[in-house]
Amino acid sequence: MEFATFADRAAAIEAEPADLEIVARTSELLADAGDDSEDRRSAGSAVDPQTVEIVARFVQGRVFPAWDSTKLDIGPTTCYEAIARAAGTNVSGDDVEERLAEVGEIGEVAAGYDFGGQQGLGVFTGGGGNGGGGAGENDLTVREVYETLADLAAAEGSGSQDRKVDLLFGLFNRCSSEEACYLARLVLSEMRIGVGEGTVRDAIAEAFDVPVERVERALQVSNDYGQVARVARDEGREGLDELDLEVGRPVQAMLAQAGTVTDALEEWDEAAVEWKYDGARIQLHYDPEAAEADAETRVFSRNMEEVTDALPEVAEFAEATLEEPAILDGEVVAIDENDDPLPFQEVLKRFRRKHDVAKAREDVTVRPVFFDCLHAGGEDLLAESLTTRHERLRTVLADGESLEQDEDDIEGLSLLWTTDDPDEIEVIDADALEAGHEGIMLKDPDSAYSPGRRGKHWRKRKPDVETLDCVVTGAEWGEGRRATFLGTFELSVRAGDDLETVGKVATGITDEKLEELTELLEPHIAAEEGQAVDIEPAIVFEVGYEEIQSSPTYSSGYALRFPRFLSVRSDKNPEDADTLERVERLRA
Ligand code: ATP
Repeated sequence: MEFATFADRAAAIEAEPADLEIVARTSELLADAGDDSEDRRSAGSAVDPQTVEIVARFVQGRVFPAWDSTKLDIGPTTCYEAIARAAGTNVSGDDVEERLAEVGEIGEVAAGYDFGGQQGLGVFTGGGGNGGGGAGENDLTVREVYETLADLAAAEGSGSQDRKVDLLFGLFNRCSSEEACYLARLVLSEMRIGVGEGTVRDAIAEAFDVPVERVERALQVSNDYGQVARVARDEGREGLDELDLEVGRPVQAMLAQAGTVTDALEEWDEAAVEWKYDGARIQLHYDPEAAEADAETRVFSRNMEEVTDALPEVAEFAEATLEEPAILDGEVVAIDENDDPLPFQEVLKRFRRKHDVAKAREDVTVRPVFFDCLHAGGEDLLAESLTTRHERLRTVLADGESLEQDEDDIEGLSLLWTTDDPDEIEVIDADALEAGHEGIMLKDPDSAYSPGRRGKHWRKRKPDVETLDCVVTGAEWGEGRRATFLGTFELSVRAGDDLETVGKVATGITDEKLEELTELLEPHIAAEEGQAVDIEPAIVFEVGYEEIQSSPTYSSGYALRFPRFLSVRSDKNPEDADTLERVERLRA
């Protein structure tokens, strides 16, 4: 396919306001992409996609597959310089930049120059974009643009910037206005013709008459729109179904929505609760049979950039622990000499580091912790439930040892509790915070792994938007091991000169903290009946909560849902505590 045809079709898509029409036109473009790769294939080129693959990416403003972290590494200045050179002797990179400041969009700026005037450096054949045949010898093809950009991406070392400008100049020099517009946008990843990932997915289904769910699944495992378009065309639905995860090729990470314990327990029978580790996301690919000796382990960031060399601890862990091929999802956490987590900023000192890794490692140690298993021993697990995947993760990390082994003892395994008990969730949350992590994740135990999705099957517990300062007006003596501690603290707010109750905070407080609170409150006990005590207003707790409900249970007429103890406001007296009016306002 000529690049002029691509540009012409891109312009038509851009001019189209309706989503369905955009899909239809993208679908036609893919169907017409054709295959001009056979000659090149026999020439033995290493990376040699067919034209339909290139078009499926170009139309989204991508040059390489999403899993491939190859970058063009062309800054705007390099691009302006190439445009200026192709535009003629009296145009400079600064002129291009000035025009851009006026016009606001690089495609329009590039289209405004007449590249055909440059004699002797390339022959402008007018492109024209009639979409039909008649390609002159010098007409630029989609394939040539791809190959030149691949060469350009591969340029490194001294003089590579000059080489990049030369290569780009060579392309612009052969462009019509319309081609220049889309080339400039492609190079700067600013395609903006209204074609997103969903459009290409639907267009592939429409163009090659395959079910959209099959396309979606194939995209999730391959992470490559180009490959999926070609397989859909050449091998249909069966071909798509045969695409699998590949160890060494990263997939998009599943993401979480913010959510509450209330939502989670209402939607699912039980929630899987995990600590939310305060680190950076990693995806580990381990293949003991890897073709290249040093590529057994590869580690990718959340954005699928390779970070293996920056985090040698992860590869060392994998090589010491794993025996079968695996793709694991997890977090890398910075730790101190006691193995306690350090703040997220410390991980960042290590995460994308390219130089002096050994030195950085002396300053900050990291360790991986894994919470999901996407592939193990040749089997893809994306469609399995979280419960099943976590069990598989456990066996992978337990190095074949018995399932009886205590989870706590399995290095690198994130802990997971499945429960429908909000109080238990509060305890897990408190433990996570106490251990120096961010809080908890709530996950649907029956859910599959959906790469790239920020769905409702994974919830990160919302941090408290608001907190309340409540007066402690009562408590209860604990039981068993906690018999000498006060717990279950009654919380009240001010209503004029009175105090009205809004709830009780019972859980989420460690034994150590309970002891401290008992010492603080005991002198203020006004009356005792059985385990219940009245406490004279003296102490103010800061509490978090998920929501405020109307409730006949408490004298205020309101109840805090899932109240959590946060701190003692020793700087506040009962007169400074929050009021019923504020509770009413927060509820509205
Ligand atoms: P955040 O800034 O909160 O980390 P995010 O946009 O990077 O958000 P989200 O999907 O919204 O990512 O939140 C989940 C993130 O929390 C994951 O990307 C991961 O890095 C981290 N995380 C820590 N522990 C877990 C866990 N047990 N399960 C899933 N993700 C976890």
